[in-house]
Amino acid sequence: MSYDPSALALVPFVSVENMMRLVHSVGVERFITDLAATIEEDFRRWPLFDKTPRVASHSSEGVIELMPTSDGQAYGFKYVNGHPKNAKEGRQTVTAFGVMAEVDTGYPVLISEMTILTALRTAAMSALAAKHLGPANPRTMAIIGNGAQSEFQALGFKALCGITHLRLYDIDPSASARCARNLAQSGLSITLCNSAQDAVEGADILTTVTADKQNATILSDNMVGSGQHINAVGGDCPGKTELHSDILHRAEIFVEYTPQTRIEGEIQQLDPEHPVTELWQVIAGERAGRNSDRQVTLFDSVGFAVEDFSALRFVRSILPETGFYENLDLLADPDDPRDLFGMLTRAKTRAPEVLAAQ
Ligand code: NAD
Repeated sequence: MSYDPSALALVPFVSVENMMRLVHSVGVERFITDLAATIEEDFRRWPLFDKTPRVASHSSEGVIELMPTSDGQAYGFKYVNGHPKNAKEGRQTVTAFGVMAEVDTGYPVLISEMTILTALRTAAMSALAAKHLGPANPRTMAIIGNGAQSEFQALGFKALCGITHLRLYDIDPSASARCARNLAQSGLSITLCNSAQDAVEGADILTTVTADKQNATILSDNMVGSGQHINAVGGDCPGKTELHSDILHRAEIFVEYTPQTRIEGEIQQLDPEHPVTELWQVIAGERAGRNSDRQVTLFDSVGFAVEDFSALRFVRSILPETGFYENLDLLADPDDPRDLFGMLTRAKTRAPEVLAAQ
């Protein structure tokens, strides 16, 4: 399909099928690398963005969230859920879609699936954080929790940080086996581990990406050695954490947007005054990242709206060259903008086959 930005009332829509085509046309690692570069660019201009903690609707089984932001030119939001029980029922724990709109007209310019895109952007964000905060030349990463996000995390760290070896652990061994199978051609060497303790042995980077709606202890203090970088991804809701609080008192903590992470991240376990650094400050050169090779650094990831904005912006930028989208008839477009009712009336008199063909 040719890209026609002049078709103002038609909104490009990237379905799951087209997102998969788009990712394959670029290559997964290249896609994550380029997306990370877009996030990095947006984090450098962080003060420009409208920022608010996401709007969350909690239930006993999960959460549904809206994540809006704008850079003054474009506006974006993501709808996303988090339901750990879904996997047992054959559904995704996390599923999402997003919208980007022009600020000057308010017209949407992109609608996209964001379940796959969220996994890609979370991997890009995690690996970007580790590039800025992690130990020099990391080679081995432990991944605890080998569900939907795990392969993306692995490939992101391979592409951006040079990880060559993975140590996998999941309470469900079949999840680790699937992850290893999916990554068999990736060039990563993979060890399946019997416990989280076993998985962290010799790792430079510890990624926790489990799903459980509780304050879990996936890592305890004795499991974390000096110089390691922790990429804590799974604790992203009130009452849902992965790290023992002793680790938080030892580590230098980096967050996305402090007001949201205080509510949702590992640091919900700490005093609200406990010092943390926002990652954008490190990326923009305003604050130091790691200050020694013995320091324990922690990226307390929860996922913030600016990253999703970057992801939509990146997808939009590569649509013209790839064409993997369809146009949606989403916006009413009467010839006379005030004659909305007239348009409706005229539609009634049109033959059904004419309406069907439009
Ligand atoms: P998933 O349900 O597909 O996978 C979770 C895996 O964790 C499962 O395989 C499960 O068996 C395993 N697990 C649960 N408890 C465990 C434990 N105690 N020890 C080891 N493994 C355990 O979920 P997913 O889509 O991969 O998401 C994982 C987590 O990441 C979720 O909590 C989700 O909310 C979160 N997430 C965060 C971000 C972010 O930006 N920070 C983005 C996406 C997802």
